[in-house]
Amino acid sequence: MTKIIAFNVRTSEEKLVEDWAKTHQVQVDIASEPLSLETVEQVKKYDGLTLAIGKALDPEIYTLLHQYGIKQIAQRSAGYEYFDLDLASKNDLIITNVPSYSPESIAEFAFLTALALVREFPLINQRVNNHDFRWLPDIRGKVLKEMTVGIIGTGHIGQATAQCFKGFGCHVIGYDLYQNDEAKTLLDYRENMADVLADADIISLHMPATRENYHLFDAEAFKQFKTGAYLINTARGSLVETTALLDALDKGQLAGAALDTYEGEGQFIGKTIEDQAIEDPTFERLLAHPKVLYTPHVAYYTDIAVTNIMHNALDAVMEVIQTGDSKSRVN
Ligand code: NAD
Repeated sequence: MTKIIAFNVRTSEEKLVEDWAKTHQVQVDIASEPLSLETVEQVKKYDGLTLAIGKALDPEIYTLLHQYGIKQIAQRSAGYEYFDLDLASKNDLIITNVPSYSPESIAEFAFLTALALVREFPLINQRVNNHDFRWLPDIRGKVLKEMTVGIIGTGHIGQATAQCFKGFGCHVIGYDLYQNDEAKTLLDYRENMADVLADADIISLHMPATRENYHLFDAEAFKQFKTGAYLINTARGSLVETTALLDALDKGQLAGAALDTYEGEGQFIGKTIEDQAIEDPTFERLLAHPKVLYTPHVAYYTDIAVTNIMHNALDAVMEVIQTGDSKSRVN
């Protein structure tokens, strides 16, 4: 029987693994510790593996996996920026991701946080909690239907997000390095990003964290935004230079930002640190900022997405074992 080892499986995901194993008649064992130099030896007994990493693997792990006869690593997320793809290829390892597990989950969340910002919902909520029920001008909102929304990155999630805003009657414009026909039915493409930044009241980011995209949204970029615009980032933290964003919010260049991702999130995400100090002054500044709506990388976190991520990753493991390749290969 084929044997797969699954790392980084949360207790709440174990049933999904069991269901998949039963349907496919495959043995899937759940590792109790993450994949590391200390734990890598256990993969020797297996035909394939899946994991969900939020930081880079030790480079030696690639060599050891190859030595142990492993042919692939199936990452359980869309992003795969923590992998050394060249090193993986040198060691005949196929890296797969889960490219599109529920674009609507992220799109609806981007839309939700945009609506919350323009209707000053966090402030209204805070006032109600303090039993302050007044109609003060700072909770007076704006109407989405009157707004132009700029989608940067018009792939799976960008299109689903455009659909949400279009449904509310917004004028949706967009920019992508590569325009695509499906997106053209949902938004008006602009030839360069500056034109989108200049015209949009809300900018929603939906591109990957590549080397070229690192800090694409810096002080210079924020100067190109329409004064009083909102930034929504459900893509990747590294796209935004956080201090430049906070400065732009302080100056009133931007009216608000909804951030589901933060460039230094690795040490906090998925953990509770209630009783500890946050040793990251930028993150502290971000959390305390009255114009920032921060959420801890939860845009994807829905029932359907969690199921699809696990099952599609396990499918990719089997695909490589059975065919020697995968349609979700990224290297
Ligand atoms: P996708 O590959 O379908 O689309 C990405 C698009 O971005 C592509 O069309 C690409 O051409 C475009 N692009 C890349 N660089 C660009 C640039 N500099 N300017 C303009 N366009 C650019 O990807 P997707 O599935 O839509 O995912 C988009 C992002 O969402 C990824 O970064 C992914 O990691 C992130 N994501 C976040 C969550 C979450 O929970 N917050 C969940 C899933 C995915």
